[in-house]
Amino acid sequence: MSITFTPSRLDAETNTWEQLFTCDCFEKGSELDKAREGAGADDEVWNVPYPSCEICININLNMATGNALDLLHWLGITIDYSGEIKAAELAAACRRRLWDEPRNHDEGIPPVTTDKYVYLGREADYLRRRTADLLRVAEEAGEHHVSWA
Ligand SMILES: [Zn+2]
Repeated sequence: MSITFTPSRLDAETNTWEQLFTCDCFEKGSELDKAREGAGADDEVWNVPYPSCEICININLNMATGNALDLLHWLGITIDYSGEIKAAELAAACRRRLWDEPRNHDEGIPPVTTDKYVYLGREADYLRRRTADLLRVAEEAGEHHVSWA
């Protein structure tokens, strides 16, 4: 499970959020997700790389759900699996967190392995680096919003 942050704007006619920048990768990605849903563990579909391109890498931010929720909390934004925020508000929250002060450096989380569970952990300053990535998304959104889901 993952969450993607993307520049968006509200379509006044349909009252729905639309991505400012669209790319084939989104469609290809959701096709791949669908194909994987019904796939067995040794299905070829697991060897198909997740589609990405310059637009998707530079304009959107995709994160594991747990890390994305932690990032929202880190930035003082209401934690939810999906939402929207004014890009300027998000950029301000990111910039505050990027001031080089001790409280703005997150500690790492050590990996945990048990019989049934592997948690890969998290490097120190992980949230700080993702904050810089999210600021880039907010800047791409300009006067619009950033939505996530
Ligand atoms: Zn793309």
